Amino acid sequence: MSTHAEEQVAGFNVAEVEIEAYDEEDDLESPSYMEQLLAAGLLISTGVDGLYGRSQVFEDVVERVSDLIGAWGEGKEVEVLRFPPAMSRKVLEESGYWANFPDQLGAVFSFCGNERSHQRLLKCLDNDEDWTEDVKPTRIVMTPVACYPVYGVMAARGPLPTGGRLVDIFSYCCRYEPSTAPERMLMFRQREFVRMGTPAEVLAFREDWIEHTKGMMRGLQLPSSIGLANDPFFGRTGKILIDSQREQQLKFELLIPGVNPDRLTACGSFNYHRDKFSSLWKIYTDAGEIAHTGCCGFGLERLTLSLFKHHGFDPTAWPEGVRATLWGGRKMAQRVR
Ligand code: ZN
Repeated sequence: MSTHAEEQVAGFNVAEVEIEAYDEEDDLESPSYMEQLLAAGLLISTGVDGLYGRSQVFEDVVERVSDLIGAWGEGKEVEVLRFPPAMSRKVLEESGYWANFPDQLGAVFSFCGNERSHQRLLKCLDNDEDWTEDVKPTRIVMTPVACYPVYGVMAARGPLPTGGRLVDIFSYCCRYEPSTAPERMLMFRQREFVRMGTPAEVLAFREDWIEHTKGMMRGLQLPSSIGLANDPFFGRTGKILIDSQREQQLKFELLIPGVNPDRLTACGSFNYHRDKFSSLWKIYTDAGEIAHTGCCGFGLERLTLSLFKHHGFDPTAWPEGVRATLWGGRKMAQRVR
């Protein structure tokens, strides 16, 4: 774990917040953090690793964190868009997701047989045999990334207005990577802003978000750093994409220690897509140039898990500054036992 005081990256003055010496002693003891979260009732087991219910107290923190992120948009010309946690399979096919992250995709399947095949399915279920013969992919897939549904919608409106567009997005996302690690949920929420415009507009947006995030982390009293990162591209060609992404400094991540005793947890990302999505979906600036896009988003569960890890399981006992940052004068959710 490196703690650079300051790093000059691609014109960004990424002053990394010093990572406080973290007391890992309690991580050496059992039970694990996940077991503690379940025992405290903050998360509720569904019997599937990575898929959990959330308590009122957990949700209260998620909502407050989401509002804190959303507050960045106040006073700006921002369009709020919300999509369900599933999206058009065709749009996802166009995005190249199958090529890059096939191992993470969650697709929706449904029974599409006749009465006879239905009887066969029921018989297979009774006999504990494979029943999936007449279960086929539908036209929807689970949304893997909150901003994916946005680009096509924006392209359909024609060229961007002068000054581009700024969109506020929130969605449940699905990544199929079953794990007992609390930071690796199958279904989690992202709060995100998407910027479309000229390269200068998109880069300024990202730089602003990186600076803003440092202030947010101070307010939440979370040790953190911002580091160069890459997406987990799949396979041998993926390695080339990873190298290129890092070389062009297209992705930075907000990294927070604690939730996983062995590694930092990426709780947010600051992405410059260049013209990748705008070329795919044909998004142009008002000057008729191909637009550039970028997005800055946060994993709400990961930030919430970090807050519980560093400040304890009872938010009413969190440091006053953290409570003021999140709740202000609002009422906090009380634990139901
Ligand atoms: Zn995004």
